[in-house]
Amino acid sequence: MRTVLILGAGFGGLELAACLSESLAGEVQVVLIDRNDAFTFGFSKMDILFHDQAPEAVRIPYADLTRPGVEFRREAVTSIDPHTRRVVTDRSEYQPDILVVALGADYDPAATPGFVEDGHEYYSIDGACRLRERLESFTGGTVLLAILSVPFKCPPAPYEGAMLLHEKLTRRGVRESTRIHVLSPMDSPIPVSADTSSALVDALADRDIAYSPGLRVHALDPAAHVAATRTGDLAYDLFIGIPTHRVPAVVEASGLTEGGTDGWVAVDPRTLATRYPGVYAIGDCADAPVPRAGVFAEDAARTVAAGIAAHLHGSPAPEKYRGRGTCYIEFGDGLVGKVDADFLSGPTPVAPFFGPSVELAREKAEFAATRRRRWFTG
Ligand SMILES: Cc1cc2nc3c(=O)[nH]c(=O)nc-3n(C[C@H](O)[C@H](O)[C@H](O)COP(=O)(O)OP(=O)(O)OC[C@H]3O[C@@H](n4cnc5c(N)ncnc54)[C@H](O)[C@@H]3O)c2cc1C
Repeated sequence: MRTVLILGAGFGGLELAACLSESLAGEVQVVLIDRNDAFTFGFSKMDILFHDQAPEAVRIPYADLTRPGVEFRREAVTSIDPHTRRVVTDRSEYQPDILVVALGADYDPAATPGFVEDGHEYYSIDGACRLRERLESFTGGTVLLAILSVPFKCPPAPYEGAMLLHEKLTRRGVRESTRIHVLSPMDSPIPVSADTSSALVDALADRDIAYSPGLRVHALDPAAHVAATRTGDLAYDLFIGIPTHRVPAVVEASGLTEGGTDGWVAVDPRTLATRYPGVYAIGDCADAPVPRAGVFAEDAARTVAAGIAAHLHGSPAPEKYRGRGTCYIEFGDGLVGKVDADFLSGPTPVAPFFGPSVELAREKAEFAATRRRRWFTG
């Protein structure tokens, strides 16, 4: 029996555990480690903030995970040595045959001066809860919604946030007294898909939401409630930022980020293998040429599962990583659009857009339900 240790039970780790439980049953013993006791979909933060969901209602406890051949352990990873594959946690030590790092991305709000003191975010559950409370007492003024650095999770999420904010403030009767302004350091919302980008830009304009592409907020003045950009200062009454992302500190300390772009884990984009034998990295922490999103972490997990099977069976290398995934985009009023991205199959990425509809809202709900079934019970 070979051992596979998966660090992180998020989108990538859960999909990999499910794949291995199916394809290598009886051949590998999988240990899946996470410091939390429950999984939460990234988009559930939107449900907390805009759809009145209680944080407890969107948690999926790992105690429900009953996949054969997979053992979940609630532990915090404290050190990783990729040379020896030795992993230390707050409760134990491991030295598996195969190690997969799927620890996601952390936020670094302090990277933007003044943001911790005077900013809000909805990229964490606590942040979404705090912002929900703040919006309840919001009576109008200027809201800046700014992407503070790139890359960040789920490229459509800031635009979804702006449209759902418009909807929420309209419902509360304070939209007319509010100016919403989205700022991004990127030149377009979804660079890989011109159709998706123009649909989002049009949707913002239809809702009277100002949009400044190519403009980054680099600091806030908490006393004056002013955001600094290269073209001047912008006053705000409420500042919402998509915080700077970075690899978790334990990954940085491991040396796995050496050779990766901007401090992310260096991987072979075809296989997600690191340069250390038997060590892979998938999902948000990996420097693969795809956006940070759960669906790409999931596709990476499938590639790594096939790679592990080929390695154990001595069979030829499997298909290379394609970087495929469907991202759903909430437009408000119960309507959802989607973009079907394929980054690496062909000579150039392709990403057709499908306009917002009630059918796609149903498809998104089904997407979450199938993941929950597949990952937790099979
Ligand atoms: C508001 C929002 C909306 C989003 N919407 C979508 C969407 O519609 N579609 C989509 O595909 N993606 C979406 N995403 C992005 C998606 O959630 C992430 O890209 C995805 O979760 C990445 O998967 P991962 O496995 O790499 O990391 P994660 O899912 O973040 O999992 C990493 C895991 O590692 C654990 N961990 C970290 N450090 C330690 C440690 N030291 N010890 C033990 N455990 C540790 C964490 O607890 C976590 O469970 C959204 C994100 C946000 C914030």
